[in-house]
Amino acid sequence: MQKKTFVTAFKGTAIYAVIGGLWILFSDKAVNTLFDDTATINLMQTYKGWFYVLVTAILLFILLKRAIEDTEKLLTLDPVTQLPRHYQFTRLLDQQLSKLPADKALILIYLDINRFSQLNQEFGHQAGDRVLQKITSQLWEYFHSSSLMGRLGSDQFGLAVTIDNDRDIIDNLPELVFRQLHNASEAINIPFKVSMGVAIAPTDGKQSKSLLSAASIALHNAKSRGEEQYSFFSRELSEIAQHRQNIINELKKPDLFEHFHSVYQPQLSIPEQNIVGVEVLLRWIHPKLGFVPPDQFIPIAEDIGLMPDITRWVITNAQKELTEAGLIPDRLNRISINISAKELNIEEQVKNLRHIFQEYQDFAQICQLEITETTAIYDIKTSQKFIQSLKELGLRFSIDDFGTGFTSLSNLKNLPVDELKIDRSFIDKIETENNSQIIVKSIVDLANNFGISSVAEGVENDNQLKFLKSCGCKEAQGYYFAKPMGIDDLMKYLILI
Ligand code: C2E
Ligand code: CA
Ligand code: CA
Repeated sequence: MQKKTFVTAFKGTAIYAVIGGLWILFSDKAVNTLFDDTATINLMQTYKGWFYVLVTAILLFILLKRAIEDTEKLLTLDPVTQLPRHYQFTRLLDQQLSKLPADKALILIYLDINRFSQLNQEFGHQAGDRVLQKITSQLWEYFHSSSLMGRLGSDQFGLAVTIDNDRDIIDNLPELVFRQLHNASEAINIPFKVSMGVAIAPTDGKQSKSLLSAASIALHNAKSRGEEQYSFFSRELSEIAQHRQNIINELKKPDLFEHFHSVYQPQLSIPEQNIVGVEVLLRWIHPKLGFVPPDQFIPIAEDIGLMPDITRWVITNAQKELTEAGLIPDRLNRISINISAKELNIEEQVKNLRHIFQEYQDFAQICQLEITETTAIYDIKTSQKFIQSLKELGLRFSIDDFGTGFTSLSNLKNLPVDELKIDRSFIDKIETENNSQIIVKSIVDLANNFGISSVAEGVENDNQLKFLKSCGCKEAQGYYFAKPMGIDDLMKYLILI
């Protein structure tokens, strides 16, 4: 390596010396041929000198800047864990990969601490640092001789282990790491969990870049399955990641909103069978990808920070269409709008929503924002703040997909909401599962006791409706009454009903 550096530096210097020599030789000749009086020749020589200094100064600047940047990148170790950072980790990983014996495999584990920022908030930054240090020391002690570790992000690590190319050994590795980290968590008495994405060299990649990309695709998959999960990279995952990337590219295009449409699904009162409101649902009909279901693209839009813009579009478009159709506020006086998970925790978005609804004050009086239960109870304090600050504007709130998130009574008491929406999965199983019947009945009772309304979603037949009626559930939404429809069909529907 050192010899190669020497040869490269020597070659560069030699080229510089030759070009410099030629420049002196030919420029002197040119000056002497072009001018004949000594005063002009002297002046031209001075200009030549300055020109030479300028060119070499620029060259020196570029070389020095590069050298300093490279040295900085190479030398900087993460001060908390003393592990190499991303850049250096990839260099070292490439070195290991180039030396990988044919009978061995290199397993790259991309490790991500679940909810690390929450852990920092709850236990303090010192505790956060201790977690990082303990993960480092625990894994380092265990894998020491055969491994390479790096800190790849604020809550992410890379662990590369060279082991025998034996499927059983490889398959057991993630569990082994989980066990080590459980021990680590117990030893420092701070609860933390991790997710892991695993890629295998040479199968999934022969260079650090492709291997890290494969492990990070696997990590993304593991995280989407919940906390403390791991996932091995596969071709299938790569296709999913490719599809996701396509969606990201399309979501970033400037004509995105031209392909968005709003549909409205009626909500009916069970005793009176009249319409009490509509839920606004988003449709994306892309010219090339076709219909992209909202539960496919909304989580991606959340990840890339696009939800504030999308929600703004949904609100303003619904307001415009419903006003132009003459349906609000007389014919419809409850419009439910979905707010996605990550928006709730973004201060900016709360401001953004306040701003929009301050602009549409009359619309705010008839709007109801739906937050999913898991989002609402994820961080009760933030949810409370969010709800309170928007309630001042006259907005109402509903907890969507209720029953899936295990909200405790005390949590519910602290959330000033107006409605619980019973998750479709329970309504689906009402006819066949006793448990679902019990859950639905308890949610309706709970809502009645709190003096708030309950809406059953996904009602598809008369049996389900009868059961809901017998429980005292007041409202329902589902294909049995109406599918989500465009504004023109909604107008026709409202005339008929
Ligand atoms: P969600 O809020 O739980 O919406 C209800 C979903 O159930 C809708 O699917 C609706 O079409 C469907 N549905 C209603 N009745 C029935 C039924 O009787 N049977 C069956 N099988 N399905 C029924 P959709 O429109 O595909 O929306 C899926 C999810 O996407 C929504 O779930 C919501 O989480 C999200 N979403 C949709 N539009 C928006 C939006 O504008 N903003 C945000 N943040 N999320 C949205
Ligand atoms: Ca909803
Ligand atoms: Ca729902």
